[in-house]
Amino acid sequence: MEQIRMVDLKGQYEKIKDEVNIAINEVIETTSFINGPAVKEFQKNLENYLSVKHVIPCGNGTDALQVAMMALGLKPGDEVITTSFTFIATAEVIALLGLTPVLVDVEPDTFNIDPEAIKKAITPKTKAIVPVHIFGQCANMDEIMKIAKDNDLFVIEDACQAIGADYIFDDDSRKKAGTIGHIGCTSFFPSKNLGAFGDGGAIFTNDDDLAKKLRSIVNHGMTIRYYHDHIGVNSRLDSIQAAILNIKLKHLDEYAEARNKAAEYYNSAFANNPKLITPAKFEKSTHVFHQYTLVTKNINRKGLQEFLNEKGIPAMIYYPVPLHIQKAYQDTRCKKGDFPITEDLSERVISLPMHTELDDEQLKYITNSVLEFVNK
Ligand SMILES: *Cc1c(COP(=O)(O)O)cnc(C)c1O
Repeated sequence: MEQIRMVDLKGQYEKIKDEVNIAINEVIETTSFINGPAVKEFQKNLENYLSVKHVIPCGNGTDALQVAMMALGLKPGDEVITTSFTFIATAEVIALLGLTPVLVDVEPDTFNIDPEAIKKAITPKTKAIVPVHIFGQCANMDEIMKIAKDNDLFVIEDACQAIGADYIFDDDSRKKAGTIGHIGCTSFFPSKNLGAFGDGGAIFTNDDDLAKKLRSIVNHGMTIRYYHDHIGVNSRLDSIQAAILNIKLKHLDEYAEARNKAAEYYNSAFANNPKLITPAKFEKSTHVFHQYTLVTKNINRKGLQEFLNEKGIPAMIYYPVPLHIQKAYQDTRCKKGDFPITEDLSERVISLPMHTELDDEQLKYITNSVLEFVNK
């Protein structure tokens, strides 16, 4: 059996190696490492894939979120509502810009931000909501967009874990994750569903004026060379990464299918087990399974993780400490005990290996090992 990895980048690379190596070499031969033709091409291809008017490539997902907030003209003291059950980057950029992150609780089944909790957190200072499509499944965007409209708020989607997921509206129309709010953000960190061979990110919007501003901010606030209309940053997707992403984008739907197949294997193996809750399916979103995350019930989670590790199976806790309990984010407005669902999940979740290369032999070994511990 092949060694089991949390994410198997090597196996995925092997299948597209020739094409990728040629593309990388082309960039090297032309030496247009920054803003080369591959970047423009990737931008167009991603706009088509997402059916969104504007894709603005940038340096990474964290920058994407930061630039999005800069472009919306938010001012120090403005409040931005987001979830406490996410990767730190989401709240980090809010705090860095002098804005106030207002964290709220999640829904226990999907782990996504709870629209009712958003409503309760709104004050006259609230300016934006940042839903995170956690683990590859969309948050409740119908509800969130309605709350935003009613309260005149911006919505910035953190789609770093959900590129390619479809949101399904009441009338059965679909939009891609990240293209529903005013701005969407994604990351091409190697282990993300569309991963580069280094850092990368992108910002999406259907708004022409916002797109202009976003494009300017990622490039030092320039519109005309050496004329700076905004305070900007330097955040670029380099040409080699864009060339690689151009190839991987063609396989993105196939990758999501492979992840779903692995998830189905896990789901059927753990179905009806009283000690394991399999990931809930939100009926308004497809799932691209950035992570496959179980909620354990009445078992020693650390014991399970160690048992699996001893058997050569990596398993991770995403995320062990909710944001509102992190030392750097202790804020007078929230304390331990305030978000019972997030806190409970952080003590019970465990994520199993999830990637595009898992085979049945590995899946059987993983599921049998989990069940061996759980049914002991
Ligand atoms: C990965 C990730 C980010 C940050 O992306 P980077 O490219 O690593 O900066 C932000 N938010 C979420 C939810 C993520 O998973």
